[in-house]
Amino acid sequence: RLAELKKYDGQPSITADGQQVELVANIGNAQDAWTAKNSGAEGIGLYRTEFLYMGRNQFPTEEEQFQAYKVVAEMFGKDQPVVIRTLDIGGDKELSYLDLPKEANPFLGHRAIRLCLEETELFKTQLRAIVKASAYGNVKLMFPMIATLQELRKAKELLAEVQNELEQENIAFNRDMEVGLMIEVPGAALIADQLAKEADFFSIGTNDLVQYVMAADRMNERLSYLTEPFQPAVLRIIDQVIKAAHREGKWVGMCGEMAGNLTALPILLGMGLDEFSMSGGSVLAARALMHKLDRREMKQLVEDVLQMTSAEQIKSYVECKVPAIA
Ligand code: PEP
Ligand code: MG
Repeated sequence: RLAELKKYDGQPSITADGQQVELVANIGNAQDAWTAKNSGAEGIGLYRTEFLYMGRNQFPTEEEQFQAYKVVAEMFGKDQPVVIRTLDIGGDKELSYLDLPKEANPFLGHRAIRLCLEETELFKTQLRAIVKASAYGNVKLMFPMIATLQELRKAKELLAEVQNELEQENIAFNRDMEVGLMIEVPGAALIADQLAKEADFFSIGTNDLVQYVMAADRMNERLSYLTEPFQPAVLRIIDQVIKAAHREGKWVGMCGEMAGNLTALPILLGMGLDEFSMSGGSVLAARALMHKLDRREMKQLVEDVLQMTSAEQIKSYVECKVPAIA
């Protein structure tokens, strides 16, 4: 089976009707990036930078971060994208050296971009490192947990400050670096049309989006029937986000676990998702399936699926219509 998949290594990620999509990987460090590249990933769709901050007793310096980002940017060269996500701390991810007040509901708390917009020194240090790394490859920047247009604007203002400072210091960077955000808060999904006007791309974070849409903790196994990407409510919100972005001419990726799920792939392809970011080990199987699917037929499949009333019904329908999944 693995030997059969190996033949898809280095092949383009195209559908049976010749439509191109991007198959990229989620990583937490440079070592993962190397593994992902060797597993057939065409770039990085989510660089989880919080791992640089975790398991130590002080903040990583700008230089340390710059090196960690640059090495991945260089690994994928001038064309293949490396999407770097700014610090997503809080919730289940804590830092021993950052004393944050205890919160009753950390997953609904002062985390990720909310924290970074207050701790601007911390945030700007990271932005400097990422912007500097943009001179060495096809780096794109992404903000996590955006809920309002004002948060996006404030984050972009801080980014512009950093870019102006680097310009004054004569430090090289890519002025045209794309800037996007994760869609993982239902409120953001509902204003996707407004956000898309001021961002270059979206990446749908289904791990969090599903838990917030269904009001069900993603870690709680007793709620797994709810934290289920095939729930009709989840599929509808994803479909709406992709449509809203496309209306503004912006591309949409997905970096939650759902992007690597083979039963979800025909649906996401039919909805028009442009980029799929998954663990490196899932890339070849996704590419193999992609090669067998006709995007126009998957569009029809989506029309059927969006009318269905349960996750079970949707899964069995897709698996029956697309025997190549098995
Ligand atoms: C997500 O929420 O889907 C996501 C990719 O981010 P994380 O799993 O790091 O929260
Ligand atoms: Mg998330």
